[in-house]
Amino acid sequence: MLASKPYEFWFATGSQNLYGDATLQLVAEHSRQIVEALNASGRLPFRVVLKPTLVDAASIRRCFNEANDDRLCAGVVTWMHTFSPAKMWILGLQEFRKPLLHLHTQFNAAIPFESIDMDFMNANQSAHGDREFGHMATRMGVERKIVVGHWSEAAVQKRVGDWMRTAVGIVESSHLRIVRLGDNMRDVAVTEGDKVEAQIKFGWEIDAYEIAEAAQYVDAVDPVEVKALTDVYYDTYDLITDDRDPADFRKHVEVQAAIEIGFRRFLEEHDYQAVVTNFQMLSGLKQLPGLAIQRLMADGYGFGAEGDWKTAGLVRLMKLMTADVKGAKGTSFMEDYTYHLVPGDEAILQAHMLEICPSIASGKPAIKVNPLSMGEREDPARLVFTCKPGRGVACSLVDLGTRFRLIVNDVQCLAQNVTMPKLPVASALWRPEPDLVVGAEAWLLAGGAHHTAFSMDLTAEQIGDWGAAMGVECVFIDKQTTIRALKNELRWNAAAYR
Ligand code: MN
Repeated sequence: MLASKPYEFWFATGSQNLYGDATLQLVAEHSRQIVEALNASGRLPFRVVLKPTLVDAASIRRCFNEANDDRLCAGVVTWMHTFSPAKMWILGLQEFRKPLLHLHTQFNAAIPFESIDMDFMNANQSAHGDREFGHMATRMGVERKIVVGHWSEAAVQKRVGDWMRTAVGIVESSHLRIVRLGDNMRDVAVTEGDKVEAQIKFGWEIDAYEIAEAAQYVDAVDPVEVKALTDVYYDTYDLITDDRDPADFRKHVEVQAAIEIGFRRFLEEHDYQAVVTNFQMLSGLKQLPGLAIQRLMADGYGFGAEGDWKTAGLVRLMKLMTADVKGAKGTSFMEDYTYHLVPGDEAILQAHMLEICPSIASGKPAIKVNPLSMGEREDPARLVFTCKPGRGVACSLVDLGTRFRLIVNDVQCLAQNVTMPKLPVASALWRPEPDLVVGAEAWLLAGGAHHTAFSMDLTAEQIGDWGAAMGVECVFIDKQTTIRALKNELRWNAAAYR
């Protein structure tokens, strides 16, 4: 489910015919060495493909349009080895529709001060040529990522790799399909939004089905399959049966196994990659989907509770952007729940009624069956665990009525050393940057939701670049945030984004 495509990124070096064949051969050879080194670095999640050097308007236009049409190309990396007059780039850039990275690098790291002559300088003039390209991209308002530095440096390669993940989020966003099983939770504001505008801005198709239709898929699941999946659960997770009869406990768990199988089938047949539920609209389901949703999220599906399709879409894209991250720590739907306001130790306990992704779990999750404090179904089975310690980003996409705003808060997940034996849900305990007092005030001023899409494997820069590509306002809350500056930023953004 999670796997997207074996995406590739094209490497397009700009030059011009003025320099003659010998120089153009050198340019092509240097580009080949750079691409080879990038691919061999082990720091890029996707392959870079070298394209012939672009020397005129026709070849530039052709390259960008071929990139548009190539289903595996998720973006183009441009670099001007020499000077490439930027009027040649106008048509190609106008027609290009995929993510663009301007790698502002240079073949040689050091200037050979002893031997440098005019020939060397003319053949190695990225500082000159990349400024011409940058000017045109800015004049045309082309959204692009710029990475500066020598191509052999680990930090540069890491930023290129991070951008590739963002680019996949941008490309995948254009055809993301989200299913709402039931409508928005009654009276709740922040989970609502303009679905037409979301499709225009993000590309998301957001459809509603009565949950009864998905429930039919659950009812149709073969009991043999339910038993087999429940066995998998019992092998994979610990069980906290409390004083419940083991046979009765297993019956409750089997309900979630049937929901997982039935929902998965429904989502696959209808081609949806993200799903939204609402505990007020469960129709024929015996339990609120808990364990079932947690497992689907771990498998790469997006999820939002109480009708929250905006967070579901973000979670799905963040799952794709973090696919196959080495040493991944996890990505989940999340909710701000309760504060720890002890001076010097401030934190927010994050949880939800049930639906937190076990990818963030520290240690082995356990299955519990407990009553739901809200809703009117039988006690649902769910996975309980606490989150790994470490940094992460909490992201909220809100609809301000006339436009969307994306809010990104750097957070520090704290080790949860004290057990909470009576809390029957998964949780994280985090401190927002720059601290709880400023972080929470900034979040409230920005209008951030209680639901977030949370990842320990993405940076604010990656999420912000995705937002910029979507053309929406992005508000960062981090170590640099001050309330005075944030208020001004929001005021200025209100004028800039209309
Ligand atoms: Mn909620």
